[in-house]
Amino acid sequence: MPTIIKEETSGGKKLPSHTKVVVIGGGVVGCSILFHLAKFGWKDVVLLERDELTSGSSWHAAGQIHTISSDPNISRLQGYTIDLYKEIEETSGQSVGLHMTGGFYLASNKTWYDYLKRERSKARYMGLHQEFISPAEVAERHPLIDPKHYYAALWDDQDGDLDPSGATYAFAKSAKVHGAQYFTHTPVTATTQRADGSWDVTTPKGIINAEHIVNCGGLWAREVGHMQGINIPVQPMEHHYLLTETIPEIAARTERLPCGIDYEANIYFRQERDGMLLGTYEPKGTPWKVEGTPWDFGHELLQPKLDNIADRLELAFDRIPALANAGIKDAINGPFTFGPDGNPMIGPVPGMKNYWCAVGVMAGFCQGGGVGLTMAEWMIDGEPSIDVWAMDVARFGDWATPDWGTVKSTENYERRFVMTFPNETLPKGRLQKTTALYDRLVAKGARMGQGFGLENALWFADSPEDAHEEPTFERNRSHDYVAREVKAVREAVGGIEIANFAKHEFKGSGARAYLDRTLAGFVPKAGRLTLTPMLTKKGKLYGDLTVACLAEDHFMLFGSGAMQEAHRRWFEKDLPTDVSYANVSDDWHGIALSGPKSRELLQRITRDDVSAEAFKFRDMRQTYVGGVPVILNRISFSGELGYEIYCRPQYLIKLAEAIEVAGSDLGYCWYGARALMSMRLEKGWGAWTLDFRPDFNAVESGLDAFINWNKDFVGKEATAAFRDLGASRKLVTITIDVQGIDVSNDEAILCDGKAVGYVSSGGFAHHIGKSMAMGYISADYATAGTKLQVEILGEFYDAEVKGAPTYDANGANMRA
Ligand SMILES: Cc1cc2nc3c(=O)[nH]c(=O)nc-3n(C[C@H](O)[C@H](O)[C@H](O)COP(=O)(O)OP(=O)(O)OC[C@H]3O[C@@H](n4cnc5c(N)ncnc54)[C@H](O)[C@@H]3O)c2cc1C
Repeated sequence: MPTIIKEETSGGKKLPSHTKVVVIGGGVVGCSILFHLAKFGWKDVVLLERDELTSGSSWHAAGQIHTISSDPNISRLQGYTIDLYKEIEETSGQSVGLHMTGGFYLASNKTWYDYLKRERSKARYMGLHQEFISPAEVAERHPLIDPKHYYAALWDDQDGDLDPSGATYAFAKSAKVHGAQYFTHTPVTATTQRADGSWDVTTPKGIINAEHIVNCGGLWAREVGHMQGINIPVQPMEHHYLLTETIPEIAARTERLPCGIDYEANIYFRQERDGMLLGTYEPKGTPWKVEGTPWDFGHELLQPKLDNIADRLELAFDRIPALANAGIKDAINGPFTFGPDGNPMIGPVPGMKNYWCAVGVMAGFCQGGGVGLTMAEWMIDGEPSIDVWAMDVARFGDWATPDWGTVKSTENYERRFVMTFPNETLPKGRLQKTTALYDRLVAKGARMGQGFGLENALWFADSPEDAHEEPTFERNRSHDYVAREVKAVREAVGGIEIANFAKHEFKGSGARAYLDRTLAGFVPKAGRLTLTPMLTKKGKLYGDLTVACLAEDHFMLFGSGAMQEAHRRWFEKDLPTDVSYANVSDDWHGIALSGPKSRELLQRITRDDVSAEAFKFRDMRQTYVGGVPVILNRISFSGELGYEIYCRPQYLIKLAEAIEVAGSDLGYCWYGARALMSMRLEKGWGAWTLDFRPDFNAVESGLDAFINWNKDFVGKEATAAFRDLGASRKLVTITIDVQGIDVSNDEAILCDGKAVGYVSSGGFAHHIGKSMAMGYISADYATAGTKLQVEILGEFYDAEVKGAPTYDANGANMRA
């Protein structure tokens, strides 16, 4: 059985009446946040725990720790978490029971081997200690494993296991050493916000007034959220692992066995005393307490359902034959909380003041330290030191309903060790949000994807029956269809739906001054558009926005759809009283027209004069197109002559019909996101969340070209310092000499075998007929013409840094 530590932790102290932060929940995540806040200088912080510490999922975790994650920054934070255990053990005097055995990820088929090669490539530029070992070496390090099942394994020194209760208490006790307090048997029953933005946190022992509260409710994250009307789309899932009796081969050893994950068999395992621990993610997950976690659930386990994991056990016995003969000492079935995409949800909750959450942390012992670090930086410094978009609670909006959360979290649980390919669109929770064009585009052969809950076309096949593609790392059947779309846009005219772009509306007498301070670039005059970066105080990128001035006191900003709630949170934080703001993304849908014949098409469906002289590049106006009221922007992300036409959702079909009819003899076709991403690569334009993100500053990314240095703006001082220092790494565009496969992202870029950077995005540039990538590399290698290599699935391909855009270098087509 997992160990439970029990001790009276409040030491008879009375609850304070006021504190800077109340952390709700004493699992590993809450305790880590408390520790980091206190260590970084916020001593007046209090954690309240309903029962004993570790009374949620933390006490019965399997305690396996590793660095591998789909997101490189989460991997980094997992590495930080693992390194931290020694420190908290020393600070607290509480053993965390750490065994740094090292561990491996076993590939029993070529696909998983390919996957691990991608991971190895990431590790190469991140400086992580991962190396491939042969099946024979696997058997040498872990003699219970039958090596015949495997191609290879990726070995990681930083893997191991620990005692989950010990680790949680070590965080809490270290927090106390640094000056924090925690109170057990102190359930929070209500959270009420005062007019000054502070919180009254009610418990049976009294009320604490706190400047900030942090929901670390774990299994009760949803219930703690409900106290404030917040929906948190997580779902506790039942999860099994087995503990065996003594296995003689293990008892006879002097050295502890390494831990491991076998993806295809869907098992993880490690040594536990003289036996083994074996866990698996059931192929059919069982959501636990969909209607809500009972408050009286404590240190309890659920009835094991071994039938649910029988198939996986068969595979495990095959691959680790000693298990077949080992007696089962305990079968653990415990619930823990999953999020819709498997990553934590942390940070300030959009729309709330001083309400933070750190929930849905599915691998708390791998990630808890990193989550604590990030939260403390965010609360104390105003921003985390690295980009944590993959964990940001703002990556979900109100569309992430409780039902959707349960469906997607269950899917994610079931796919924990199931491959997701770069071109794969997951099937569950689809059609959550659609536009009026959905049926029309699907009928035309659209293969749909989903972003921020909204369905959008990826590419167009010949018919609905034809709109399928195999999940793969390699180029697939969509390649030729995307090529067709690119050709139509580059030679004639195409249209893409742009409902998925974010739209932010600002009104009021103070709007211009506010935007001038908030954005680093120029704020346009009425009827014009500008492109501008938005920066944090520390000079990190926080937005890459198009600004439209509709009137002197009325602006619309267009940006990343995925970032819309994060940007809302940003804008609402310090909004002056003379500015009104709204995220109006769902109020404006639309279509972007691109291509040399787009003007001709547009002119046929508007009475305005849209000639080159009358409607110039970066002009905008509110007018009528296709008989409906629109915002018309002369701009395009494809790098062609183009227009973005935004209309209210109820006019979208009418607009689409007008475009289709008027474009029928001009070669008009619909195109999807893949074609757009291909065309922007040829222009060397970065995309938000990939090439542009808060890991980088304006100088590194090249977005400093859009800065207006003759004004004050947020992040100016830091950015000027970056400029004066000169960037040590630069965003570059490269062509790659490769057939049949392209980068997806996160591949290592090398020079003479040494990693000099990584790929932030890429794919096939259909018009110029080359595989391309964008990536950040050491500035020493960023000169045009520099020869490099890119690692794709373990092979090294020649690459060359490009200077000017590979298509329409001087922008003549776009400005025509
Ligand atoms: C069977 C199993 C195996 C696992 N194996 C691993 C593993 O090998 N490696 C790994 O990294 N992770 C593993 N995990 C996952 C890990 O346990 C979780 O990620 C981690 O426990 C999450 O911690 P938490 O602090 O977010 O939540 P929890 O542990 O659920 O803690 C939440 C705490 O908040 C308290 N609380 C809730 N509401 C209130 C309130 N209103 N007032 C006061 N207190 C409140 C609860 O009592 C609880 O103590 C496993 C989990 C299970 C179930």
